[in-house]
Parts: sequence; structure tokens; C-alpha cells
Amino acid sequence: MNCIFCDIINKKSDAEVLFENEKVISFLDIRPVNYGHTLVIPKTHYENFLSLPEDELSELIKVTKDISGAIINSLNPEGFNIVTNNGIAAGQSVFHFHFHIIPRFKDDDFRFRPKLKEYNIGLMREYADKIRASVTV
Ligand code: 5GP
Ligand code: ZN
Repeated sequence: MNCIFCDIINKKSDAEVLFENEKVISFLDIRPVNYGHTLVIPKTHYENFLSLPEDELSELIKVTKDISGAIINSLNPEGFNIVTNNGIAAGQSVFHFHFHIIPRFKDDDFRFRPKLKEYNIGLMREYADKIRASVTV
């Protein structure tokens, strides 16, 4: 399997690593939205959010929170986004699960500008019913 993130984990490819432990590694994104844009990934290859086991997720979240704090304290951005793209339609380009931590500034011109839909009467309930029927927790 060809995976650039696995190559970084295995030190076959260079990266500016910020932190690593047994399960998780965090490094700077090579094409940042803003400088300091960081990725946090599991050392085991999982394709997306849904294939990630709970124990991996909790470790990733713990590290993501700590690195977010480190970015805030060291770079003083005005905010930050934690983002994960899942699937080509959602913008995923590397199919090894990762969280993005993106430092943000009021005038950085990075915008998510959706054309928002409206629900017709009944349609919101229809969507909620469909999703509720598949909830398993
Ligand atoms: P995605 O588009 O899958 O949500 O995010 C993948 C991210 O990985 C992109 O933001 C991209 O810039 C970053 N990326 C791709 N290849 C490399 C690489 O070789 N090194 C580093 N540090 N980041 C990479
Ligand atoms: Zn991988």
C-alpha cells in the first residue's frame, strides 16, 4: 500500500514532527492554510473516521487537544479549526485518517461558504427519522 503518512511514520519520508508517542504522531502540514497548520494521525493506518477504533480516537483527541493548546500558546492565533475530511466529496486527499488543526485569524480569508438549504415542512422530520433509525449508541 502506498501511503505518504505511513512513510512519514516509518521515517521513509521527512516531516516536521511536533510530537509522537506509541500510537500517535503530529507534524506540520506541508501546504498550510496558515503557518502552523498541523496534522494529528494514528500510527496505524485507518482510512477514515468510521474505521477508527475508540481507543485510537480517544488517544488522538487527547493529543489534538494538547497540540491545539501548544499552537495557541506559541503562535497566538485568534482562533483555530479542528477539521477532518472523510471521502473524496468531502475533500479528503490522503486516505489515512487525520485531524487538521488550523490556526485562524480574522482576516485570513479562509472561508467555508456553503449555499445553505432550507427544509420544507416535514422534510426535517423525515431526515431526522432516517438518521435516528440508524443510531446505534
Ligand atoms: P486531506 O486533504 O486528506 O484532508 O489532508 C491531507 C493533508 O496532507 C493536506 O493538507 C496536505 O497538504 C497534507 N500532505 C500531503 N502530503 C504531505 C506530505 O508529504 N507531508 C506533509 N507534511 N503533509 C502532506
Ligand atoms: Zn497510511
